[in-house]
Amino acid sequence: MTSVERTSDGTGESAHDRECYRCDRDVAPARLFRLVSEPPAALSHDYQTGERFCCPDCAAAMNLSEFSERLKARARRGANSSDG
Ligand SMILES: [Zn+2]
Repeated sequence: MTSVERTSDGTGESAHDRECYRCDRDVAPARLFRLVSEPPAALSHDYQTGERFCCPDCAAAMNLSEFSERLKARARRGANSSDG
């Protein structure tokens, strides 16, 4: 049997502010990146899917943040210095 952490679903004020797992910075939950590491099937009996939350700065530091197409388009329009 595995003990599964139950997340409070439904109503219930959970003023549980999440923080970045890397820099321990307090970040509003709405601004946290969700990183999910899913093990391959061959290792699924040794590892379980992990979930971490980190701030945009750390996501960028790990090259895990991708700018949305909207931002890319805006950058493309604004920057004429180099095309490529
Ligand atoms: Zn961070």
